[in-house]
Amino acid sequence: MPDAKPADSAQHPDRVLAELDSWQREVRSQFPIFAEAAGEAYLDSAATAQKPQTVLDAVHRYLTTANANAGRGTYRWANETSALVERCRGRVRDLLADPDPERSGVHFTSGTTEALRRVALDWLVDTLADGDEIVVPAADHLANVSPWQEAREVLARRGVTVRLVEMPYEPSGDYDIAALAGLVGEHTRFVAVTHLHHVYGADMNVHRIRRLVGDDVVICLDAAQSVGHLPVSVADLDVDFVAFSGHKAMALPGIGVLWARNTRGPRYVHRGWEGTPNTAGLVSLQAAVDWFDVTGLDRIARWTVALGARLTDGLYRLPSIQVLGCQHSLALDSTVQRRHGLVTFRHPGISSADLGFVLAEHGLMVRANAHCQGPAGERESSVRVSLHAYNTVDEVDRLLAVLAQLDDSLTDATSYR
Ligand code: PMP
Repeated sequence: MPDAKPADSAQHPDRVLAELDSWQREVRSQFPIFAEAAGEAYLDSAATAQKPQTVLDAVHRYLTTANANAGRGTYRWANETSALVERCRGRVRDLLADPDPERSGVHFTSGTTEALRRVALDWLVDTLADGDEIVVPAADHLANVSPWQEAREVLARRGVTVRLVEMPYEPSGDYDIAALAGLVGEHTRFVAVTHLHHVYGADMNVHRIRRLVGDDVVICLDAAQSVGHLPVSVADLDVDFVAFSGHKAMALPGIGVLWARNTRGPRYVHRGWEGTPNTAGLVSLQAAVDWFDVTGLDRIARWTVALGARLTDGLYRLPSIQVLGCQHSLALDSTVQRRHGLVTFRHPGISSADLGFVLAEHGLMVRANAHCQGPAGERESSVRVSLHAYNTVDEVDRLLAVLAQLDDSLTDATSYR
């Protein structure tokens, strides 16, 4: 993998952070949870994101003025609720820069996990034939590994044998496109990929996959960590399915999206009776999309990339800390891997669980465990820090200061022995 070009000075993280400083203060002030959490830093947005006031207000307004079931009534509240479901589909298409809204499908799920499983069990199992191959990213999130294994098992029970080809990775955690070129061929039908990696924080450069596999192979994108963090364009990425979770994109938990392009292979159809939709979740999702429009996904991405670069650079300066994944490409203008405000690391002298507890005592809320990575992922647990537009330079610097203190005390203790 080529190293990134060095950041030009106009794009230097500190400059970006200074330029966006007042914008970011205004953004943060829109999240009521922080008014109640003085001295605490929420650094776990990859697990779930906090909600802006407009999202909370929209849900409250809906539940106190028009709450009804969708598609089941003749009265005003029911009609309004039915209309909101359709409006929300339209807003999701806007969010994803859908080039062909007449053809595509937007299906609501409980989250990314259900959306990917739906692709596997409602679509893939009826699409594959004996001898077909699918590429599975076994070091990505389990939600993007187990559905494809399940599909293979369902097909095996029907007497259809399909082969799962493990996506190769570079040591940096990026997909190894050169190695993948040797693994795909005339039997490849489907490739599952992730947009931003939930452990390495890196942009996986999925645009390279379409170039490699050609025009007929179906590509399914797990966008759980990218939607709401940067502009995601299905037109540019030329993928066929996109799955994401509302709760990671500032909407409520329990609402997710499966977008289907419907131009390669059979049209996607959601199987089975769907029941009552998560109407409050849909309201929150629509309000979150509106919030992204007003706030600017470009600016959100610039802020989190720059803040992530400050964090990564700070971690590199601590002698004992081992940063996982991508070691280069912090440049904001890099066309290769780039961190999007998510950094995972270990300390050789302190277990990740202990680090998590110590950081929590300092009011720093991070994620410390194995991060639900697939079977080809990291064997040892680690600490993940994940940022969003509401995180501040001060929070990152506080975290670095606590880690520096720990590092010093540990180095002193070892030198006594
Ligand atoms: N994919 C990725 C990359 C994720 O980070 C996550 C959540 N950590 C998921 C899928 C699953 O999302 P959910 O639990 O919201 O279904």
